[in-house]
Amino acid sequence: MKKQIDWLPVLSQCKENIQKEIAPLLKTLNQPQPNLGIGAGGDPIKQIDLAAENAIIKTLKEYGLSFTLISEESGIKEHGSNPEENYVTADPIDGTTNLMRGIPFYATSIAVSTKPELRAVHTALVADLFHDVTYTAKKGRGAQRNGQKITPSKQALLEEAVVGVDLNTYKLRKVVPQLTRLIEKTKHIRHLGANALELCYVADGTTDAFIDIRGKLRATDTAAAWLIIKEAGANITTPDGKPLNAKLDPKEKLKFIAAANQKIYRAILSLIKA
Ligand SMILES: [Mg+2]
Repeated sequence: MKKQIDWLPVLSQCKENIQKEIAPLLKTLNQPQPNLGIGAGGDPIKQIDLAAENAIIKTLKEYGLSFTLISEESGIKEHGSNPEENYVTADPIDGTTNLMRGIPFYATSIAVSTKPELRAVHTALVADLFHDVTYTAKKGRGAQRNGQKITPSKQALLEEAVVGVDLNTYKLRKVVPQLTRLIEKTKHIRHLGANALELCYVADGTTDAFIDIRGKLRATDTAAAWLIIKEAGANITTPDGKPLNAKLDPKEKLKFIAAANQKIYRAILSLIKA
């Protein structure tokens, strides 16, 4: 029989161990960094990414768990005797560039699912490692920020809304025409540089929407925040309004619109839809 695991305390322990492991490395960021090659997600691996990933693996092993780890750094790796029992999708550090440059906005993102598929995610954690703020969600049980239930904003006016848009792409000329009408109507456009955390900002009402239609964002970065957004009661769909789903694989990419409530979601969708 399959073991029933209470995943939230396990994920919280992962986050605590990541903070412990990266603390000494945070003090050496101004020193030359070793070349560790390219990660499974396509970005150069930093020592701090690896330390965070190792902290996750070590913690899950300490709990005696079997799991398949789907990670931005080392790709897909099986651990324990029944690795197909649990799929753990992680972006050990989301926002590594922010971290390396001293911008205090980076997170760890961990999602657990029964299959390597976004809609099978049942438990999630995204932790702002700088401010020590932890977002969690369990399927059917709502979403929390440091243990307190969260709800998205009721802002219905695009003119007043704070809207995150990720425009980091070499193919900007392709993406811009679809975003022009939205940006013209919005006074407060933001991009903070750690997409998992920016999605959680929509979940708890800090911002009103977050849009990433570049086709560049990895499913590994989105898996945990997807459940947090859904459980908080906000909307997240593809840019043409379809339910979001994806294979959980470091090479899989996503596009989405996340918005706090139906009114603002529809307003954004109508401006973005081709
Ligand atoms: Mg990362």
